[in-house]
Amino acid sequence: MQICKTPADLKVLNAQNIGFVPTMGALHAGHLSLIERAKAENAFVVVSIFVNPTQFGMNEDFSQYPRPLEKDLDLCAKAGVNAVFTPQVQTLYPFKEAISLNPPKDLLGFEADLRPGHFSGVLQVVLKLFNLVRPTKAYFGQKDAQQLLILQRMANDLFLPVEVIACPTLRDSDGLALSSRNTYLSPEQRELALKIPKALNTIKEAYETGITQGTNLLALGQEVLSPLEVQYLALVNRQLQPLERVEPNNSLILTAIKVGTTRLLDNLWL
Ligand code: AMP
Repeated sequence: MQICKTPADLKVLNAQNIGFVPTMGALHAGHLSLIERAKAENAFVVVSIFVNPTQFGMNEDFSQYPRPLEKDLDLCAKAGVNAVFTPQVQTLYPFKEAISLNPPKDLLGFEADLRPGHFSGVLQVVLKLFNLVRPTKAYFGQKDAQQLLILQRMANDLFLPVEVIACPTLRDSDGLALSSRNTYLSPEQRELALKIPKALNTIKEAYETGITQGTNLLALGQEVLSPLEVQYLALVNRQLQPLERVEPNNSLILTAIKVGTTRLLDNLWL
């Protein structure tokens, strides 16, 4: 496995048909499922590990975000990754940015309201990474649904020569969606956090018995989530527009929940 730290290191890879998995490291089985999919579909797989400062707000966890680099490299090697890109901040941001990207207005709300500037930072770093790695396919998790939709829109609107592929959310055996931020949870908080997958399951089961009205489904979810701090719990279509009723195969239940000081995202694709 090759370790690339600079754009020059990436250039000499000289690979065609690259499958690319961008990450912020602290890799878990969710990341590994993206890598596995990329391995299955591409001759050459590149993983980036970069905690991107421009997508973190002033009071967010940029400095405390876990960075277990040696362990991550070991996991990548074992997963059969061909090259890992681990740039320094000054390598990706060598000067004060002159150009910024903003997500389209119809995909705002939710995370964009709670984390001003977050998606501009995501678009900025992913476009830089795409231009450096030049992948044919790039793999992102449905767990970060709004991010995925915004990145698919960027690739489409800017005619980027990359296919943005959506991968399903991997969960722990107790149902909690895997996330690098789960390490912030105390055992008691983790127990409380299980209300999130339970609420989504309750909504799914109710939908399967024929309830399609958003207010009814969301009320059932709210009940399970109590007393957690629900930042949002919403029924939207896959263009993030609010829905009154579930439209089969075009709906999403989006939620962000605060457990202690940790924000956890989850969602259900209906
Ligand atoms: P992150 O390192 O958190 O920026 O995540 C890197 C990529 O892994 C993103 O595309 C995430 O959506 C994806 N990802 C994170 N958690 C999961 C999960 N539990 N299942 C599947 N993909 C995930």
